[in-house]
Amino acid sequence: MINDPETLTGVVLNGAHGIYDVHTDIGVLRCTLRGKLKKAFAQAQSAKLTGKANLYKDKSYASRYQRNEEDSAFPSRLTAGDYVKLRQLDDNTGLIEEILPRQSELLRKDANADAKRASAQTMLANLDQVLIVFATTQPEPHFGMLDRYLAICESAKVCPIICLNKVDLPHNQSVEEAAALYGRLGYTVTWTSPKTGVGIETLHSLLREHTSLFTGPSGVGKSSLVNAIEPGMAIKTGLVSDATGKGRHTTTGSQLYPLSDGGWLADSAGIRALATWDIAPEDLAWCFVEFRPYLGECFFSDCLHVDEEGCAIRQAVEDEVINERRYMSYVRMVTGEER
Ligand code: GDP
Ligand code: ZN
Repeated sequence: MINDPETLTGVVLNGAHGIYDVHTDIGVLRCTLRGKLKKAFAQAQSAKLTGKANLYKDKSYASRYQRNEEDSAFPSRLTAGDYVKLRQLDDNTGLIEEILPRQSELLRKDANADAKRASAQTMLANLDQVLIVFATTQPEPHFGMLDRYLAICESAKVCPIICLNKVDLPHNQSVEEAAALYGRLGYTVTWTSPKTGVGIETLHSLLREHTSLFTGPSGVGKSSLVNAIEPGMAIKTGLVSDATGKGRHTTTGSQLYPLSDGGWLADSAGIRALATWDIAPEDLAWCFVEFRPYLGECFFSDCLHVDEEGCAIRQAVEDEVINERRYMSYVRMVTGEER
């Protein structure tokens, strides 16, 4: 492909009210939108409000996982994580000419029930991985919560990486057994300790050239890990509040922070959007990867695999092919006990 020498490709780091900071090969440029693009966003926004666009209108399995032409409607605004083509105007500014197709979208769950479909706001585009951090001990890992995060990642179509931190502390054998189970399910499990440096270089290499987000309960060592990779990054991304205590989140969107060695980290607004991600009960079983081979095998086609007769998934649990603890995590989620 021959590139127009004046056209650059970049990643939107943040932006609101028509002004965007875009990370490019030649540095961060403060950009505005070209008139044509502004108009296209406005049209997409009004189509969404009048319900013409089909994006996320239908919550069925097919519309969410088998994206068709209609599904990938033109976005109604630019958001952090979007890849764009732009023209440099002078040393520090640019004009965004084009938005490239999104690979994934993290939506904000709106308190306003129906607004979720009609005007769901994209918080972050093209997030490609989530580091789910738990401590091997202090605090003890909560695997039910890990299962919930994994299901959310499957639903949002981002790759989860399980990070077991504080590996320097003596921990229970059950942690090793759980890690082996997640490994068998196909998930990457990394063991780390910012205290001793174990696993930090591996983690660092996993972040390069990716847009990542750290999540997990408090006290497990997320900010210590982020700071071990890049000092000062934990405050920037909102993993620890800064000394002023003032929220930086005056905008509704998430922000991305470039790592000096390549890759981007999403801030706490993105973390919140992920934590409140909603999965429809009929889609949840698909989000437990080991359930997938059994979907469509139950006696009732609308089986939610809780107490229905002739359930292929419960049979697989009985046959010890599906791990019972994972199944119980599913039941807690589908019955709304753990949301
Ligand atoms: P966060 O709330 O997830 O951001 O956790 P922090 O990074 O604030 O860490 C919580 C506590 O765990 C702090 O006292 C850290 O010093 C400690 N900590 C973090 N990582 C490790 C580790 O690898 N080993 C040990 N022993 N302590 C750690
Ligand atoms: Zn079933």
